[in-house]
Amino acid sequence: MVLRNGHNRSLQSAVKNSAILHKECSIMENCLFCKIAAGIIPSTRVYEDELCVAFRDIAPQAPTHILVIPREHISGMSGINEENAALAGHCLAVAAKVAAAEGLENGYRIVSNCGDDAGQTVHHLHFHILGGKKLSLEMA
Ligand code: AMP
Repeated sequence: MVLRNGHNRSLQSAVKNSAILHKECSIMENCLFCKIAAGIIPSTRVYEDELCVAFRDIAPQAPTHILVIPREHISGMSGINEENAALAGHCLAVAAKVAAAEGLENGYRIVSNCGDDAGQTVHHLHFHILGGKKLSLEMA
């Protein structure tokens, strides 16, 4: 994203303020999903708590396409370790809750792309919830 200097400064102070609001979370200035979690970039939220946020994907690949992200910056699946595994697990529990709330009783798919081969484009851990139609049986 290209920002003019003035915007950059206000962005920096917004990020700093968010970092104060979410002391336990590390907010990366140039991370799109950190900014969405902090409310600096708007999103269509369907759920949030103190640890994670769920919002509709901007380019849905299924009738229901929601992303669940931790507020804390974790680069992706490869950034999960013993210390933050409970947070990743919480995101998955929230994904199940959101899927139920979205009425996906016929089923859904949870996807987390990790790295270039998987096509990860945003390097902040996220779980896609895909549903609302019969999904392709091809997984790769
Ligand atoms: P991935 O390719 O697995 O890293 O997934 C990134 C996802 O983020 C893609 O499905 C994008 O459509 C989605 N995305 C990118 N920017 C936004 C945004 N501003 N709001 C909501 N979803 C977004």
